[in-house]
Amino acid sequence: MANDIDPFSEKLRVPEALTFDDVLLKPKRSTIEPDEADTASQVSTNVSLTVPILSAAMDTVTESGMAIAMARHGGLGVLHRNMNLDQMVEEIERVKSADELIIPLEDVVTVDPETSVREADNLMAREGVGGAPVINTNGEVQGIISSTDVRPHLEVDENDPVEKAMTDEVITAPQDIDARDAFDLMYEHKIERVPVVDDENLLVGLVTMQGILQRREYDQAVRDEDGQLRAGVAVGPFELERAEAADEAGADILFIDCAHAHNGNVIDSAREIKSTVEADVVVGNIGTREAAKDVVDFADGVKVGIGPGSICTTRVVTGSGMPQITAIAQVADVASKHDVPVIADGGIRYSGDAIKAIAAGADAVMLGSYFAGTDEAPGRVITMNGKKYKQYRGMGSVGAMQSGGGDRYLKDTDEDDDYVPEGVEAATPYKGTLQSELQQLVGGMQSGMGYVGAESVPEFKERAEFVRVSAAGQQESHPHDVVITDEAPNYKPDN
Ligand code: 5GP
Repeated sequence: MANDIDPFSEKLRVPEALTFDDVLLKPKRSTIEPDEADTASQVSTNVSLTVPILSAAMDTVTESGMAIAMARHGGLGVLHRNMNLDQMVEEIERVKSADELIIPLEDVVTVDPETSVREADNLMAREGVGGAPVINTNGEVQGIISSTDVRPHLEVDENDPVEKAMTDEVITAPQDIDARDAFDLMYEHKIERVPVVDDENLLVGLVTMQGILQRREYDQAVRDEDGQLRAGVAVGPFELERAEAADEAGADILFIDCAHAHNGNVIDSAREIKSTVEADVVVGNIGTREAAKDVVDFADGVKVGIGPGSICTTRVVTGSGMPQITAIAQVADVASKHDVPVIADGGIRYSGDAIKAIAAGADAVMLGSYFAGTDEAPGRVITMNGKKYKQYRGMGSVGAMQSGGGDRYLKDTDEDDDYVPEGVEAATPYKGTLQSELQQLVGGMQSGMGYVGAESVPEFKERAEFVRVSAAGQQESHPHDVVITDEAPNYKPDN
């Protein structure tokens, strides 16, 4: 009998696409110990990171608190865009000024020489500072007063003017002082703070020992040429005004935030934004070779991910998407030939997934759910059935779209009833500090580099080879035939 079911219809001759669990890294001869593996990587034309990790531009993941912590620990936070322009500028400024070497004049507590000792003491206590430059009405530095100078003692009465109690032989620093010289200067003179002055002895800022020591704690930190922490910011595909405001406020990288950037209007607009701003512009998200070809001529980086996210329903709602390992590999095939860095965004549950993303061709990875449960993520801790959680929601969920940013999904979302969500609202287990999560993530990635015998990210990308894993192989990869008795810091069976 003739077989009238032809399985070889052209439509069904389909390529296979793979994701994280479908592959493993082939172990190779190695002379590299994990701790020696250098994770530094380029994330956009002008920005490289100490650890190739970004926190997602989501309103339950990245605001200034997260972005500061990410940059201090060597990664990058990308501020979400469910906020108005003024709030965004404030958030960017918070990140940029977090570990500033020179506190700018407008933030320095100063006193007038005529002020009484009592008033100066009250002012310093109120502002929480231990000392203040004394400046005249022209802004010239006359002296420096510290809280020990104003404590009652024989020579100075609390009604005396500050000029009687201050140190008038002030050690000052020039505007181009760096952290090393400032430290040496303060150490040599046994002082806690140094006014920074211009050529005319006008006060322009202040360096404090406390600030320097704080910066030293973060030896991995990712900073710009002025020593400020790096900041990323999401902008809508058509938000030229937001892009300009973010650029003006000092953002280092603008991330065009779109669920499907392989769209003519989005690409035209991204190109216009790129030609207007000084900051680097990363375009995303995309997931195919064809999309990469359409953006690599102008993008400073590309972001990959169509539907892999933990809170994402794009693939089930729209029937469209690309499993993440194939998506990364396809985009990287094109982008690497143009020296455009690739960021793998979404779907990463374990450090092993992160290093597989890099093996597939990514230069860095972006994570949402992994970080949403940390202290640094916005939102409070909630308790359900005795367990602690934090809220985590998709930016394409109804709740997040109501707070703005629905244009990520290229829909006109004026009417609430019109929302066609592509994400869910959820909760994620509370995890404690970002630092400990990052430590596990980076440590696991370094171990992956060790198994492949690579000392650096570029070398790892070159050497890494995948093997395909069967369903039985996947099962074998996870703990099996046992009951886990103690939770590991980097593995959760129900992830
Ligand atoms: P995760 O690390 O949680 O697996 O994925 C985070 C990524 O998912 C984000 O960086 C973003 O690209 C993507 N994403 C965030 N919210 C949504 C959403 O509501 N729908 C879709 N399709 N993707 C989302």
